[in-house]
Amino acid sequence: MPSKVSTGFIVFGAVTIFAALCVLPAALAKDAESSLLATAAALFSMGALVIAAGVYLKARALQSQAPRPEGPAGPNPAQRGGCELCGKEVPVVRCKVHQLDLCGACLGRHYDNRSCTYIPSANKSVGKPARAMVAKNRGF
Ligand SMILES: [Zn+2]
Ligand SMILES: [Zn+2]
Repeated sequence: MPSKVSTGFIVFGAVTIFAALCVLPAALAKDAESSLLATAAALFSMGALVIAAGVYLKARALQSQAPRPEGPAGPNPAQRGGCELCGKEVPVVRCKVHQLDLCGACLGRHYDNRSCTYIPSANKSVGKPARAMVAKNRGF
């Protein structure tokens, strides 16, 4: 699991920095060897580096886990063989104005007698004319 590995990095880095802080007072003592201060500094920078690596790995893992947005070629609700509002029931009528196949339940919600015109829903797929974008002189 990459996220566990990255958490391990962060914990290890924190422990390393803690160790550096523990060494630091001894290193700063007047009669301390100068190598002790170098050791503390090295531990501190290594801990910071390991934490940074852990944070980076964690961010990478989160990014790869994030759900990818559906592409433009998503499932066409009309192809699920049902109502275009709820997607579950079999459509009984088609609203010509809004181009929607509606089941009985959704018909009641959608109904608007000022604008909607209904025709019995034909199960044959109606060949909608695809409006192909005419590419005008592109380039040049
Ligand atoms: Zn419905
Ligand atoms: Zn309508």
